[in-house]
Amino acid sequence: MSLAASSSPVWRPFTQHALQPDAIEIAEAEGAWLTAKDGVRYLDAISSWWVISHGHRRSEIMRAIRDQTERLDQLIFAGFTHEPAETLARRLVALTPQGLDYVFYSDSGSTSVEVAIKMALGFWRNRGENRTRILALEHGYHGDTVGGMSTSARGPFNASYAPLLYDVERIPFPAAGREQATLYALEAACKAKPAALVAEPLILGAGGMLIYPPSVLREMRAICARHGVLFIADEVMTGFGRTGTLFACEQANVVPDIACYAKGLTGGALPLAVTMCSAEIFEAHFSEDRAKALFHSSSFTANPIACAAALANLDIWEKGDARETVARTCALQEERISRFANDARFRNARRIGTITALDLAVDEEGYLATIGLELMRFFNARGLLLRPLGPTIYVLPPYCVTGEDLDLAYAAIEEAATFAG
Ligand code: PLP
Repeated sequence: MSLAASSSPVWRPFTQHALQPDAIEIAEAEGAWLTAKDGVRYLDAISSWWVISHGHRRSEIMRAIRDQTERLDQLIFAGFTHEPAETLARRLVALTPQGLDYVFYSDSGSTSVEVAIKMALGFWRNRGENRTRILALEHGYHGDTVGGMSTSARGPFNASYAPLLYDVERIPFPAAGREQATLYALEAACKAKPAALVAEPLILGAGGMLIYPPSVLREMRAICARHGVLFIADEVMTGFGRTGTLFACEQANVVPDIACYAKGLTGGALPLAVTMCSAEIFEAHFSEDRAKALFHSSSFTANPIACAAALANLDIWEKGDARETVARTCALQEERISRFANDARFRNARRIGTITALDLAVDEEGYLATIGLELMRFFNARGLLLRPLGPTIYVLPPYCVTGEDLDLAYAAIEEAATFAG
């Protein structure tokens, strides 16, 4: 074995193994808490990469998974279908903003964006129009497949793969006071007849938890509509309650042409994603000509067990306690983040819905800043799963989190102020 060899053959994602040779081995999870193999407990303050909605091992979802394993495990999803996928699609059409009438299944946030881009390009090509350019928001993150990476911000984490990536036009992020610049740039870009704009609604996640107001989202959508540019809402992170409403687009009364949902779709229990679209987009692919089909598939498309988990999750949203729990989490978060508003050791304390973020006052910037790694270790040593984006510390907890749990997280953040300056 080589010098670099670690004790495990696992090659972990977004990890420089030379700097992070070890990972914490978790044996169990319950609610907002993880228990490691050595018995140490960690508060899952980022919902295990933003996926766990209600809490780990939520009983209704676990039961639905168990029940589904008694009936059907996996099925080819071309030429065959199954009840969980059919019911889930109908219920999603009813639940999501009105006008999203078709549901295409895949299995991660990245693939849901990939499919969205394919839908947009296929739409224009099938209609005989040469519109191939995609617009995206500066600092966006849309996943790690080719389409996802191309539309995401360019940086060290995709530089090596540049030969794979296509050229995307960036619209400046609508930072406070610069909203008009964004809207002008979008209007100008739309005049060149691009195919689509892809944007995370209301908050850019991996780009640094950057928040912008519903009024700007509404304007961006209106500009796209005026120019016939398809509007793709990437709700992979924001969907299922994160921003305080079921979907972020609701807050701006926006119906996208295409919407991507993943992470919280199953309450976070199993990988499943959907790309939803308007009837117009489906109909542009509907033809006697087989070449006009949407060419995308993966072996596990619409896995029945994952669909059953998603159905149980929708029950929690429609008949259970999710909305109340989200409202409570928003209030708990507001109480705590507001204490940092005038703390000079931090900048930009902010909140949208259940998500809070603040930037440590240091000179380093960006995701790869070493401060991010140092902070992560600092929090881990205090029994917290927090994973700062460079100097940006954010708290994105499962909705079952308690005030006492959050107090532990914010006490550690307060303590982390020693890194400032
Ligand atoms: N889009 C957004 C907005 C995301 O936040 C993410 C993941 O964080 C993705 C897409 C990619 O999702 P996945 O990691 O499930 O492929």
